[in-house]
Amino acid sequence: MNSRRVAMLVCVAVLVLAGVRAGSAKPAPDDTNPFAAADAQILSEIHDHSQAMDNLEYLSDEIGPRLTGSPQLKQANDWTAAKFREYGLTNVKLEPWTIAHSWMRGTAHARIVSPAMHPLTIASAGWSPGTNGVVRGPVVYFDAKTKEDFENFRGKLKGAIVIYQEPESLSPPRPENSNRELIRPMQVPPPVKGQPPVPSPFAALQEVARARNEFFKQEGVAVVLRDSNKPHGLLNMTGIGGEKFDIGVIPTAFITGEGYRMLFRMQKHGKVEVEIEMTNSFGDKPMDVYNTVAEIRGSEKPDEVVILGAHLDSWDLGTGSTDNGTGSMAVLEAARALAKLGLKPKRTIRFVLFTGEEEGLVGSKRYVEAHKNDLEKISGVLVHDTGTGRVLTLGLHDNYQDREIVDQVLAPLSELKLLEPSMVRTFGTDHKGRRCWLRGRTTRRSCRRCCRDGRCHISRRKRSQKRRRNPIP
Ligand SMILES: [Zn+2]
Repeated sequence: MNSRRVAMLVCVAVLVLAGVRAGSAKPAPDDTNPFAAADAQILSEIHDHSQAMDNLEYLSDEIGPRLTGSPQLKQANDWTAAKFREYGLTNVKLEPWTIAHSWMRGTAHARIVSPAMHPLTIASAGWSPGTNGVVRGPVVYFDAKTKEDFENFRGKLKGAIVIYQEPESLSPPRPENSNRELIRPMQVPPPVKGQPPVPSPFAALQEVARARNEFFKQEGVAVVLRDSNKPHGLLNMTGIGGEKFDIGVIPTAFITGEGYRMLFRMQKHGKVEVEIEMTNSFGDKPMDVYNTVAEIRGSEKPDEVVILGAHLDSWDLGTGSTDNGTGSMAVLEAARALAKLGLKPKRTIRFVLFTGEEEGLVGSKRYVEAHKNDLEKISGVLVHDTGTGRVLTLGLHDNYQDREIVDQVLAPLSELKLLEPSMVRTFGTDHKGRRCWLRGRTTRRSCRRCCRDGRCHISRRKRSQKRRRNPIP
């Protein structure tokens, strides 16, 4: 993990949101920015003394994958709490929330048995039940994109091994436009306070998926095989237990991209039969799981809180290093550096390592419910869940009104070579569990008028003029 990644997160968290008194730091070159001295201290501390890589290695290698409800995740909760204490933070605790069932992965084997024998590589989806022995059935491509199309398959799926995705090309690798997230058009802004949430663009897809599962259940499908859609025999993973951590209805597994395409090709030419056996198990009663929480108390407004967070949980087919060990350890490193430097934020900085993110941001939603009476006191939330690669900038999630304050904070961090803040909004990190960000300064109407393409168009000259006139209060 690059020290730039951590340094950017720490500086932004402390300076944008909590405000810092820089104490006896040496004056920085940019003496028009009141936070430049603290920035310099933070950058130096993390550059010279970072523990982020050691911590990431321990989390990934020694603790390993951290499925919510697993003993490894509890171990990670306990270990991160101990690290926060070691670094000198206060109010360190594990905040519990409850899941209906834990899930334990067993074995998963599959092979094509007719018209020719081919071994297949599969892995159970999270919260999938086992198959109760070996099942053998025909492969059926469920070519139905809408609910109306489902009826074409009525009475044809009993005991079938169902595939339902049209495969994309795996090779050559799909071209990646590394800037696509930065240049995409602005999306519908998040709701203003007191207004109903903006419908998720995935809601319609989710509704079809729900109806499809219900249809499969009614029709007696034996197993669902999903395309990992990755080259080189890699597997993908998600879960089928939903936000409630329910026991999945139909045994479901991911198959390698190569295996999926073989099935897809073969079923076009005639009957294909597959044998599958999966063994998984469930916890038989609800269990508590935990978010790890720690604080640096504010010196002037301790009741006002800035949250710096990441999700500690992961799926279990890998080590959980990039999703989201990197983010979690950046948060831990932020806590270490700030505590060691003795910087005094005006507001309390609360570090939260959420869990249950992979199953639907559940730990962060439960956090919001548990703290619903305190939300007015939360001034901002910074969440790190961007995986590998260099951090390019902050995505403001279409909160155009926040661009100036964030721009002021990024300005002294020139050595990190960040891009301008982008309006990028992503779907699927723990920031979604709460609907707050920096407090706004402009209206939604002006936001739409000024920022049609999602980029900040205020010139650098104008912005630096504004910075000099209006340093962050
Ligand atoms: Zn993630």
